[in-house]
Amino acid sequence: MFETLSDRLSSVFTSLRGKGRLSEEDINTTAREIRLALLEADVALPVVRTFIARIKERARGTEVSKALNPAQQVIKIVNEELVEILGGQTRDIRYAKTPPTVIMLAGLQGSGKTTLAGKLARWLVAERNTPLLVAADLQRPNAVTQLQVLGERAEVPVFSPEPGNGVGDPVAVARESVEYARRQNHNVVIIDTAGRLGVDEEMMRQAADIRDAVSPDEILFVVDAMIGQDAVTTAEAFRDGVGYDAVALTKLDGDARGGAALSVRHVTDRPIMFASTGEKLDDFDLFHPDRMASRILDMGDMLTLIEQAQRTFDESEAEDMAKKLASGDDFTLEDFLEQMQMVRKLGPIGNLLGMMPGMGQMRDQISNVDEKDLDRITAIIRSMTPAERANPKMINGSRRLRIANGSGTQVSDVNGLITRFFDAQKMLRQMKGGGGSGMPGMPGM
Ligand code: GDP
Repeated sequence: MFETLSDRLSSVFTSLRGKGRLSEEDINTTAREIRLALLEADVALPVVRTFIARIKERARGTEVSKALNPAQQVIKIVNEELVEILGGQTRDIRYAKTPPTVIMLAGLQGSGKTTLAGKLARWLVAERNTPLLVAADLQRPNAVTQLQVLGERAEVPVFSPEPGNGVGDPVAVARESVEYARRQNHNVVIIDTAGRLGVDEEMMRQAADIRDAVSPDEILFVVDAMIGQDAVTTAEAFRDGVGYDAVALTKLDGDARGGAALSVRHVTDRPIMFASTGEKLDDFDLFHPDRMASRILDMGDMLTLIEQAQRTFDESEAEDMAKKLASGDDFTLEDFLEQMQMVRKLGPIGNLLGMMPGMGQMRDQISNVDEKDLDRITAIIRSMTPAERANPKMINGSRRLRIANGSGTQVSDVNGLITRFFDAQKMLRQMKGGGGSGMPGMPGM
């Protein structure tokens, strides 16, 4: 799901890579590209407008950050705004104070309503509930049987009209089911109602009658994500005709674009509560806006790292280091060590590659340093005297042997480190003046 949007957004971010600071023109271009990506994903126009306005406003307002480069800042903003547009918080079921909690499903025929009833029942069982499924869809031939089959698979009993009772009255069935659930200690009732191929008045009236008869604790509007923007129109019709508390999105697995998912919340002002992502009973879960957003951005790891970097980097710490690095001459082994420790606080080195601002060009050099290597380097530097750390040139043969013994390493390790340090210092001098923004990379590593 969301493949198209993911691809488009990731190329937008790629084009920002390496920029030192975002100009007004950069922001406009980026906003325009994100706008196109959203429109292509079939996101409703009002949603696109709001989204873009927020992105622009926030991108203009961002401070130059020591921890994040502009591309990362934009990713962060887009992520946060995606979470917002998807509803912010995860919305769970509001259980009734006195059971049973009555959940009513409404939606078009073919939206996946009956399948969703079975999935929801199964999910509720996993959450330690004792649900009852109710077949109040007496319009569609087979709907009752379909629910019975699903109920069997989910191991949840199904309340249905007695066979031979004619067509049956869905309102009566719904009402009786709630009584039955109370007597049988089912703490949740899931009522599957009839759908039509299109929105029509009779269907709306029937759903409204069931609603009035059982006063549901939650009315879920079930909508097929694959119908894209039509989902928005249908959602509005149901909101006006029956009303609902939350949305259940089905067939997200078949939705390569994401328009419905991204539009429904904003347009209806109702949260998306559940997402259904396949035909199997287990392809179902609460809808988590934050997880969905990082899925759309297709960069879960990156987002975690961005947060980590921000949390870990004390801005002033980074600033001090940046100043020191700007003048390669003052760069001592002490700084070398300090900088390494700073990087290390961020977690596994491998994940950091290319993530840290200004580090892109150092990527290859860093990728072959592992944690053990860092431990060894730390031990070696700690075995040096302050004078040696400040002025590594004074470290002659006998000092090298002493340092190797003190740190439990070989003289060749000490030699290697000193060589790397001098290389780093040289590189810093070369970089001087040409530096980008943010935290400089770890030279020589
Ligand atoms: P109803 O008419 O609204 O009750 O819809 P159904 O529950 O009968 O579902 C219609 C069709 O969609 C069935 O073939 C289901 O197997 C299929 N379906 C339902 N949910 C999903 C889903 O999340 N993903 C996919 N791929 N198919 C689904």
